[in-house]
Amino acid sequence: MSNLIEIKGLTKEFPIGNSTFLKKRAVFKAVHGVFLTIKRGEIVGLIGESGSGKSTIGRMALRLIEPSGGSIIYDGKDITKLNHKEMMGYYQKMQIIFQDSASSFNPRKTIGEQIVTPMLRLGVARSRKEAEMDVYHLLERVGLKREHFVRYPHEFSGGQRQRIGIARALALKPEFLVLDEPTSALDVSIQAQILNLLLDLQEEFNLTYLFIGHNLSIIKFFCDRVAVLYKGRLVEVADSDRLYTNPFHPVSRMLLNSVLTLDKKPLADDLSENTAKINRNTGCVFSGKCLYATELCFEAHPEMEVLSANHQYACYNPQNVEETQEQLVTL
Ligand code: ADP
Ligand code: MG
Repeated sequence: MSNLIEIKGLTKEFPIGNSTFLKKRAVFKAVHGVFLTIKRGEIVGLIGESGSGKSTIGRMALRLIEPSGGSIIYDGKDITKLNHKEMMGYYQKMQIIFQDSASSFNPRKTIGEQIVTPMLRLGVARSRKEAEMDVYHLLERVGLKREHFVRYPHEFSGGQRQRIGIARALALKPEFLVLDEPTSALDVSIQAQILNLLLDLQEEFNLTYLFIGHNLSIIKFFCDRVAVLYKGRLVEVADSDRLYTNPFHPVSRMLLNSVLTLDKKPLADDLSENTAKINRNTGCVFSGKCLYATELCFEAHPEMEVLSANHQYACYNPQNVEETQEQLVTL
């Protein structure tokens, strides 16, 4: 399989506070040198706590926001520096689905109209008639009815709105979709329906997904590979099954643990001793919370270790014992 997306050393800094004359503005590093490759037809999960930088990475991959550093290679071509006009073809090939995709619809226009307009603008349909026919088929394919074409966004339930968002994305005949927590706002019963729909569509249209989420149980059933993010840094990348059964990084274990025990508390609650030692500029980003931290962990952030083609981790003290899920719960 060829690489569809190569994210190379991607970094994002957001300015914080007010800049004053002659004083350089302070920045917050939301994403820190992330490398991630997604093969054509693959589903890669990106997981991490809220605020870890997942959405920022997803948006940078599509060039919806500009990276501060690093590059994005799409199908062998560096798209990082392309101007708006040169990006047009890529804006069609790469789509995003949000938690509530339909919230970006205009409430005063029918949903059909709003799906057709970008199709004509980006040239994926030759005529209005052809675009409308495509939309009728797509509405049915995502579990809605063709009559829904002339309805308004507020007439739909949460699950239906997400189906509309999926139809709008697919109408542009994309190759690559960023799914940014597509089911987080939905009832559990509806979540499974939408996830199954997304899996079917992926196969049917030969799509490539970057699936963003925080629930590891969903990720295991949904993704081929998983990348774990913590405070803007990738800490582990592995095949889903492997990450689920044998996570090396304490952060991965923490995220798994919170799924298995339904306990949202961090791994180590007693931060007092470690917090005193933590040096935010140099040490491992997780050292202040980590049960396994040693002196070295407070000195330098670990490099990614390549265990195999399917498993990389950035940790000085990986917890690489084969365990059963039961043992993990009592970690
Ligand atoms: P996630 O999707 O993992 O919850 P985000 O990518 O949305 O995280 O955000 C990562 C961090 O960057 C957060 O601390 C967030 O507050 C910050 N951030 C995101 N967007 C902006 C912005 N436009 N300006 C300043 N800070 C931002
Ligand atoms: Mg997010």
